[in-house]
Amino acid sequence: RIISGESAGPKEEAINLSLRPTSLDDYVGQPRLVEKLRIVLQAVRERNEPMEHLLLHGPPGLGKTTLAHIVANEMGTHLTVTAGPALTKGADLVGTLTKLQRADVLFIDEIHRMPVAVEEYLYSAMEDFKIDFQIDSGMHAKTITLPIKPFTLIGATTRAGLLSGPMRSRFGVSHNLDFYSETDLLRILHRSAGLLKLTADHADKSLEQSLELIASRSRGTPRIANRLLRRVRDFAQVRSDGSLTPDVVDQALKLEGVDKLGLDELDRKYMRVIGEVYQGGPVGLEAVAATLGEDAGTLEDMVEPYLLQIGFLARTRKGRQLTRAGGEHLGMRISTDDNG
Ligand code: ADP
Repeated sequence: RIISGESAGPKEEAINLSLRPTSLDDYVGQPRLVEKLRIVLQAVRERNEPMEHLLLHGPPGLGKTTLAHIVANEMGTHLTVTAGPALTKGADLVGTLTKLQRADVLFIDEIHRMPVAVEEYLYSAMEDFKIDFQIDSGMHAKTITLPIKPFTLIGATTRAGLLSGPMRSRFGVSHNLDFYSETDLLRILHRSAGLLKLTADHADKSLEQSLELIASRSRGTPRIANRLLRRVRDFAQVRSDGSLTPDVVDQALKLEGVDKLGLDELDRKYMRVIGEVYQGGPVGLEAVAATLGEDAGTLEDMVEPYLLQIGFLARTRKGRQLTRAGGEHLGMRISTDDNG
């Protein structure tokens, strides 16, 4: 994963893969999106057409890649996965596009990070299912047109605003993924616990309570929920008898630096910089990033969305501002609680 910031080893990747739902029925939450997709998929299958291009935006770990797998599965076609930064030259994309079969799905993660020159090839590919490319230059310049099979592009980006207008307008369906409710995260965790064959200490209730505790600390994000479940599983196996109890969960998550609200070390460091170094803000993101020694984009994608969601952070015209609730969580008094 390129922007996930959670480097997982090959083994964890394999577990992750096995936890990934493969049909729309198993995809938890995002009811509006699921409903839209059910309709589109049934309609195109009845007409024997490829699905329209789909743009998904939202913070990492909310299930965009998973949906691409599901769409290919439901269409009974193949999925090719790539990412914007991996497509450095037009030729990279041409190679990928010409290999696609009818109605295949091409998933481009971080599509906003694709170079402009490559993006331009994609326009005619998406719209007319052909690629125009130039060979030679100057007097001998020639344009060759290559037909490609009608395919479905699924683009994923953390924020829709990062995409150029012409790119955005070529998607037939566009959807912003929301953070998951605790109830939905609990359903995901139940499924994952079953797949990982996790057991509870005698009473079933303690498994239920353990999973509830994990759900409440997963920042509305399925990937985080599954990751914390794996950490808890390891902890339970090594430090206890392998079964989950709320106490085991609590200790394991403490070790992970995850607090009662699910915030981790980076979240707290980010808030502390605004609170302590910049007196609660408003302060520009670049300044916070420089103070933290972190990449501004990483903070914007991985840290800010959830803090905004829970009302710990406000974005104003003048910059980022810690709210009173955010300050209280850190045990700090923020006097300028003007969230305008
Ligand atoms: P993204 O592409 O948005 O970064 P992923 O699709 O890779 O996120 O999802 C991360 C993990 O979270 C997946 O491995 C999957 O197991 C789980 N997951 C995501 N969304 C759902 C969902 N709606 N239902 C069940 N599991 C999900």
